[in-house]
Amino acid sequence: MKKVRVAFFDFSCCEGCQLQVANIGDLLLDILEKIELVEFREVMSERGGDYDVAVVEGSITTEHDVKRIKGIRQKAKVLIAYGSCACTGGVNGMKNNFDLEDVKEYVYKDRADWFNTVPTMAVDQVVKVDYYVNGCPVYPPEFVKVLKCALRGMPYKVPDYAVCVECKFNENECMYDKGVTCLGPITRAGCNSWCTNNGNICYGCRGMVSNPNKNGQKEVLKKYNIPLDWIMNKFNMYNKAKEGQQV
Ligand code: SF4
Ligand code: SF4
Ligand code: SF4
Repeated sequence: MKKVRVAFFDFSCCEGCQLQVANIGDLLLDILEKIELVEFREVMSERGGDYDVAVVEGSITTEHDVKRIKGIRQKAKVLIAYGSCACTGGVNGMKNNFDLEDVKEYVYKDRADWFNTVPTMAVDQVVKVDYYVNGCPVYPPEFVKVLKCALRGMPYKVPDYAVCVECKFNENECMYDKGVTCLGPITRAGCNSWCTNNGNICYGCRGMVSNPNKNGQKEVLKKYNIPLDWIMNKFNMYNKAKEGQQV
């Protein structure tokens, strides 16, 4: 049986999500039999050739990126946006809080004109995306699930309920009860409350649920005397590029 050719590409990002795949180990073994990796800069030096599935990490931040992602989309039968940078713009979206000229000058000083930059965009703000693997970094079991769906041509729906649901199932003590704010009530689940299981807060890296329980969130904030601005500013860290849009 012909193997499905899979290629990984990276745009503006830290490449931490690719590293997650490189570290998946056993979970990936049964998939590796069915695919042929044709490009994956972090684990192999060969590159080029045709591919069926493009796994795209990183956000679109330059004019060159825009051209490149359009070329990748043209060649790929299936495109998977991989990690927060690709799905929501991720931390790169923070650039959009500032004037682009100021940003260039701050970073590149008198060489600012050498670098073209455009407002940070998630991949689907430029081309069509078929599957999403949210998270910074991605949650490896979810990536395996999505890849299996993509290989079988089946749909994968990102969970659209709050991280709090998974957190409660995992019987964690709530961060708010410890006097710490957490974005779990408005953030999409699917990571099995990875951070709160490990004593951390949820930073909102998977984007906002489509229908957040605003009243419930307001009640929690009121109970703990926390301004709404604090929560929304924290949420901005991963989600600025898609502010006001469905993620
Ligand atoms: S989503 Fe996070 S871990 Fe993944 S590439 Fe972007 S910054 Fe790195
Ligand atoms: S607010 Fe945070 S710590 Fe509390 S239940 Fe929700 S995800 Fe868990
Ligand atoms: S708990 Fe929150 S910050 Fe952590 S991986 Fe899940 S969605 Fe992201």
